[in-house]
Amino acid sequence: MIKASCECGKVRFEFATGRKEITVCHCTQCRKTSGHLWAATRTEFADLRFTSKETLTWYTSSEWARRGFCSACGSSLFYQMKDETGVGIAAGCLDNPPDDFKIAKHIFTKDKGCYYDINDPVEILETY
Ligand SMILES: [Zn+2]
Ligand SMILES: [Zn+2]
Repeated sequence: MIKASCECGKVRFEFATGRKEITVCHCTQCRKTSGHLWAATRTEFADLRFTSKETLTWYTSSEWARRGFCSACGSSLFYQMKDETGVGIAAGCLDNPPDDFKIAKHIFTKDKGCYYDINDPVEILETY
């Protein structure tokens, strides 16, 4: 099982498999809510097994999506589109990321911050 938790540990969950291609989003919302970038794996929300979630809080960040975070420590944890059963899971909250999890794509680089460059030899999309 892949285990994940927020920084303070009040939100803990695990899941069997996730998308090994990590997507990094540079859009303004992701930069604001994460503090820099949103890097995520993905799985079905129904497949997440929570062992603790008392402080898991959802923020409606747009008409089409919500973001899950820990209200105690502020860790960004989830991104979920309204109409989708899948959920994006912050790569940074994984406690034991599998070895084959790698950044495979950068998206919305048109909105990226001016203070960094992207030098990954992977797919780079200005939007999605
Ligand atoms: Zn927390
Ligand atoms: Zn984004």
